[in-house]
Amino acid sequence: MKEKRSPSELEACWKEDDMVDGQKVRAMVMIMRTNGCCWVKHGGCTMCGYREASLINVTEDDLLKQLDQALSKYKGEPFVKMYTSGSFLDDNEVPPSVRERIFNAFKDCKRLLFESRPEFITPEVVKTLPKNVTVALGLESSDPKVLETSVHKGFTPADIKRAGELLKDNGLMVRTYLLLKPPFMTERMAIEDAVNSARFADPFSDEISINPLNVQRATYVERLWKRGEFRSPWIWSLIEVFRQLSGTVHSRLLSSPSGGGAMRGVHNCGECDMKALDAVERFSYSQDVKDLDVTCKCIPRWEAYMRSETMLGSPADLERDFENELVLRM
Ligand code: SF4
Ligand SMILES: [Zn+2]
Repeated sequence: MKEKRSPSELEACWKEDDMVDGQKVRAMVMIMRTNGCCWVKHGGCTMCGYREASLINVTEDDLLKQLDQALSKYKGEPFVKMYTSGSFLDDNEVPPSVRERIFNAFKDCKRLLFESRPEFITPEVVKTLPKNVTVALGLESSDPKVLETSVHKGFTPADIKRAGELLKDNGLMVRTYLLLKPPFMTERMAIEDAVNSARFADPFSDEISINPLNVQRATYVERLWKRGEFRSPWIWSLIEVFRQLSGTVHSRLLSSPSGGGAMRGVHNCGECDMKALDAVERFSYSQDVKDLDVTCKCIPRWEAYMRSETMLGSPADLERDFENELVLRM
């Protein structure tokens, strides 16, 4: 039986590294329990497992208790990230009065980050946001067709561009998330899509975070993955995206993949995964393409994998469907 989760307790709270004003600093991350993402009622996004995380009838009082818990752990970190498994600016998740209390509690913090769908980012709401705010926008892809059919996002790239420009015009920071390898894409298509999407997002972003798809439980993507119709991207593909973008965009490029090195997450051959993920982390801070210089004997396998996918015209997981040697020698 599932453990009953209390609406007045934070889902999680921890400390990690991030960046403020070009310096690596400690950040506090708090995952709040809310009524959940409004888009879930419409089916949600194909890769999102957040429906599992939402509750119903989380009250203002519950949210304030969660804030108290966070404050009891807060040690003056200059960066605080608040995730709600949805949109922090949706009044149904976090009412304006609670938002105000939160902004006030962290008014001395240099950076305060939260996520929101673009429909909640209106001129009226943006005016209420303090200047230490960074809004994270889940663009995922700049291709409208990919957003509609592959991600089922429920908004368009133009909606994100409007929201991003509005935030920038009001002097706020924007972190844009891109999804590396939405379903139905080959590895090569995924690299191209992420590079194009980053170029689209660059003018209205300060940071671009590339999130390789991580197969979450009870999602549409998990169904595809279980049938062998999806393979999470290779770490080499993520590195390739950074290589192609490096020096050509003004935004800081970063990635901190969840589930990296596991079958459900971004992975290589198993032997080099940690080394390659370390390189990604170093690059996320330094932006120095030399930090991506890692190698492994599985690079030719990744290249062969991409050739085979293109030849077969299929994004199915070739390593699982066929004998490796047979396919990857083609
Ligand atoms: S990815 Fe974001 S917008 Fe999509 S269902 Fe999940 S929380 Fe909602
Ligand atoms: Zn390897």
